Amino acid sequence: MNTFTIIFLIALIISSSIQFWLAKRQANYVADHRSAVPEAFKTKVPLEAHQKAADYTLAKVKLGDLDGVIGIIVLLLMTVGGVINLIFEYWSSLALSPLLAGLAATATVFLLLTIIEIPTSIYQTFVIEEKFGFNKSSANQFIKDQFMHLVLGAVIGLPLLALILWIMDNVGSTWWLWAWGIIMGFSLLMSWLYPTVIAPLFNKFTPMDEGSLKDRIQGLLERCGFNSQGIFIMDGSKRSGHGNAYFTGLGNNKRIVFFDNLVNSLDDEELEAVLAHELGHFKCKHVIKMLIATSIMSLISLGILGWLIDQDWFYTGLGVSLEQKSHATALLLFLLVSSTFTFFMQPISAYFQRKFEFEADDFAANNAQASKMISGLVKLYEENANTLTPDPLYSSFHYSHPPAAIRIAHLESKT
Ligand SMILES: [Zn+2]
Repeated sequence: MNTFTIIFLIALIISSSIQFWLAKRQANYVADHRSAVPEAFKTKVPLEAHQKAADYTLAKVKLGDLDGVIGIIVLLLMTVGGVINLIFEYWSSLALSPLLAGLAATATVFLLLTIIEIPTSIYQTFVIEEKFGFNKSSANQFIKDQFMHLVLGAVIGLPLLALILWIMDNVGSTWWLWAWGIIMGFSLLMSWLYPTVIAPLFNKFTPMDEGSLKDRIQGLLERCGFNSQGIFIMDGSKRSGHGNAYFTGLGNNKRIVFFDNLVNSLDDEELEAVLAHELGHFKCKHVIKMLIATSIMSLISLGILGWLIDQDWFYTGLGVSLEQKSHATALLLFLLVSSTFTFFMQPISAYFQRKFEFEADDFAANNAQASKMISGLVKLYEENANTLTPDPLYSSFHYSHPPAAIRIAHLESKT
């Protein structure tokens, strides 16, 4: 066995063992705290809602474990099991140009990965979400969504992939710098187009009606000196009972979007506080900081790929024969296995995300009412059945937001 195969297998065993161990901790912690509402929420959340959140969390952890097992099996089959090698062999036997063969083979692998995920996705939507009363999606809607994602993936992904493969084949050893520039430019373009071109393919966005809520929000935007292309309500309820609010777009193309569920369950002052939190992410430059961090990470990744692409052991160690050694196989192998090696960095990015959440909460407390932010959050936790008692270690790995109790205590110190 190739040394790199052994390194890959060891990394996979370690990272998956940590994943499963953390999931087990989360399940135990949530189950142990299921019998009583935590002290800080005693007067705010009924026991029944707390237990529903626990059961929902446990169901999701179980599905996550199953998904993890499937993911490991698929990854092993694709790489050391030789499936990628077979797919590339097939397409290159058809006497297509190397670029077309690489493109077709990569697309085949992604199509397979998408198809393999469908059963889990069906189970998640029609069993778990359904059981806890969140699913509003019909079978029809579900099929339409899957189809749209595939079409969109092909329309957007294939030309980008073709361009990158062409650059890899034609630009010489600095290809990775060029590829980086293109990927960055492309993701900026996508963020800019997303609110007006892509999101409307899946949901309806209605400008918020004139009235006291809109006036209140407009007042907040003016106080904070924020330019936006409008405030929209999204028909999130056609798929799910979960509620949320978000900012989208770049530059002048920024939009504020509220899920219809959220508008129905929060009062005007709570909505203002939630929006102030989102504005905080912009005002504290979190969006730019994240963008810079992502672009540095992708530059490093592409630089590493630029080196790996010339190493024979990288291919043979991951089940690809040297006859199939190509830029396309290198790129694909890299995309599939890199998370096995970078998994250990997850707590670092989660740490920064949580730091940003505290800063945005501070901004909300200063520009709206902290008490309304708290009551809005408690409603959101309750209605989305998010657990109030996550395992501390699990949440430090996986949570982009601080656990409920810590976040609310922080806000309470601002009232
Ligand atoms: Zn936030």
